[in-house]
Amino acid sequence: MSTDQYTFTDPTAMYADIQPEAKHQPEPGLDADMTPRADLGEKTYRGTGRLTGRKALITGGDSGIGAATAIAFAREGADVVLSYLPEEEEDAARIAGLVRDEGRTVLTIPGDLRDPDYCRDLVAQAVEGLGGLDILVNNGGKQVFNEDLTTLTDEQFDDTFKTNVYAMFWITKAALPHLTPGSAIINTTSIQAYSPSDILVDYASTKATINAFTKALAQQLAPKGIRVNAVAPGPIWTPLQVSDGQPQEKIDSFGEDTPLGRMGQPAELAPAYVFLASPESSYVMGETLNVNGGMPTP
Ligand code: NAD
Ligand code: MG
Repeated sequence: MSTDQYTFTDPTAMYADIQPEAKHQPEPGLDADMTPRADLGEKTYRGTGRLTGRKALITGGDSGIGAATAIAFAREGADVVLSYLPEEEEDAARIAGLVRDEGRTVLTIPGDLRDPDYCRDLVAQAVEGLGGLDILVNNGGKQVFNEDLTTLTDEQFDDTFKTNVYAMFWITKAALPHLTPGSAIINTTSIQAYSPSDILVDYASTKATINAFTKALAQQLAPKGIRVNAVAPGPIWTPLQVSDGQPQEKIDSFGEDTPLGRMGQPAELAPAYVFLASPESSYVMGETLNVNGGMPTP
């Protein structure tokens, strides 16, 4: 059974007919080439005007969790900037089209998050193109498994930290002068921040860092009326997972070890980002919202 996200449904039965397939892709992977395709909520998400007139920048907005968030934000009334790698143009163009279908403005700004100049330029272009900025979603990320620390290259360690941590710092720092009171920053962390896998030493370390960054900055910015929170997904069906985020032999049982017994879909994440972006969460700061199929977290 699939889901429309609104009908009263047994969550163990949702997406029960969906079987992940190990169809390997080179990094960063395309949503367009996944089997089966991920549910980004494109057929289902219903907006209720919760982000009317808001201006959002989403990194990794071309696919997976960021794309589901972009669709939801547009349907809630926000204009959106999508950041992604140039080789992901196909995915980004589809999501941009879906945003445009809602009558919202969309800007696509490809580039490499490991490059501080791109990060700063991204913010400048977003502010210019949208006429301001009041939602920042730091979501782009790199996850490549490695079984033995002695073979974890300095380059990969550096790339994972640059993409997941440094880009968040560079972009947030550049965005801050533009964020007015009421604005929201949402960082994507992971269950890996608390339950690190043996094969994700570099990745898990970045996600723990993101949690600490979020909680520290939330206190610093609360007096300015800017809220900082995080979303911590569990196993979600996205291109990241089939482009060496996991060993291929683990893909067909992906998510089965969660209490819910299945992987999640990006569509199940988007409402968490909408909640944290909207004024509904005005008293929520420094929080990590876990969306992980029931795995206990601190
Ligand atoms: P995804 O592959 O759809 O999204 C990740 C995006 O990061 C890519 O689309 C790409 O645009 C961007 N990216 C990666 N390297 C980049 C670079 N050097 N420059 C510019 N952009 C770059 O996968 P996703 O799972 O939706 O990932 C989104 C976030 O969710 C990531 O931060 C990831 O760590 C986190 N997350 C995912 C899972 C999961 O199971 N899928 C679980 C926990 C956390
Ligand atoms: Mg992508």
